[in-house]
Amino acid sequence: MTFVPHRVYFEKDTLNYPLGRLLFERFKAAGVAVDYTGSHNRVMGIPGRTPQEAYTEAKKTLVLGVRRTLSFQTCKPSAHYQLPLTTSCPGKCEYCYLLTSLPAKPYLRAYVNIEEILNRAGEYIGQRRPRLTLFEGSATSDPVPVERYTGALARTIEFFAGQDCGRFRFVTKFTDVDSLLELKHHGHTTIRFSLNTPEIISAYEHGTASLKDRLEAAEKVARAGYPLGFMIAPIILEGNATLSAYQQLLRQIRSRIPVVPRLSFEFITHRFTRRAAKRIREVFPNTRLPLTETNRRFKFGQFGYGKYVYTAETMEEIKSILVAGTKELFPEAEIKYLV
Ligand code: SF4
Repeated sequence: MTFVPHRVYFEKDTLNYPLGRLLFERFKAAGVAVDYTGSHNRVMGIPGRTPQEAYTEAKKTLVLGVRRTLSFQTCKPSAHYQLPLTTSCPGKCEYCYLLTSLPAKPYLRAYVNIEEILNRAGEYIGQRRPRLTLFEGSATSDPVPVERYTGALARTIEFFAGQDCGRFRFVTKFTDVDSLLELKHHGHTTIRFSLNTPEIISAYEHGTASLKDRLEAAEKVARAGYPLGFMIAPIILEGNATLSAYQQLLRQIRSRIPVVPRLSFEFITHRFTRRAAKRIREVFPNTRLPLTETNRRFKFGQFGYGKYVYTAETMEEIKSILVAGTKELFPEAEIKYLV
């Protein structure tokens, strides 16, 4: 699954950086429509009159910029800071966690001043030394699809390999990981794959890699000695989706993944806010996602708005079956959480 943008915008300042110049020439030579933008934060000219068109066209648009704000957002509880390398992704998952936080045109953004971003990460690490500082590379994006252009993940992995007190992690639904396999990582980067059952992937995760391909990429990552993680999300138990499909998913993972020393699992059940449900129906008018509030429990969230989650009984059932199944099949793994 290779991302090739239909149009690329460059901030003029990107041409002061070797990566900016290289990408400008490369896209022009490949016949991709190239243009300038005054700011990577406000890009005009992406077509799309309806919410669906705007979303689809933005997902084919790449914007290269210089990251000027070098104060990193916190990323609790999973990490200390977000590492801002990219924003958005070419996937079109109906339950994307970015649907309500990115603008109506969620174009992809990548930065050419990677060294400046990493220097700043080094300062954050220094402030917390001797404690470990953990950085999350996918808080606002799936960073893998643009890696073939920027090499940002590779550079970041090598940077963290040299950090005694810094660690890096990211999660992906894509498989373009070959350029990362030979790198010196010193076990300081955890690569996680977001997985779901094949039925859920084909129903809702448009434009992403298949389960089979994600498992193949995960196996390569495991054999390259990286700490490996699986995020099973969102767990959906409505319509034809059953818990036994998730038990089968665990067996499929086991059949493909060797026993590795640093393996972890995260489980996230399906939940939605009223705002997210509205946005999903705008962008995906024919969605079959379960978004009915009546058979859910309302839970107040930490940011002042509530979300609709499964009932306590359903959560208990999911927990008992999936936690037990994971412990049995992966005694070597750490289960980080199930929410
Ligand atoms: Fe969103 Fe991740 Fe899907 Fe991309 S792959 S659309 S970031 S959920």
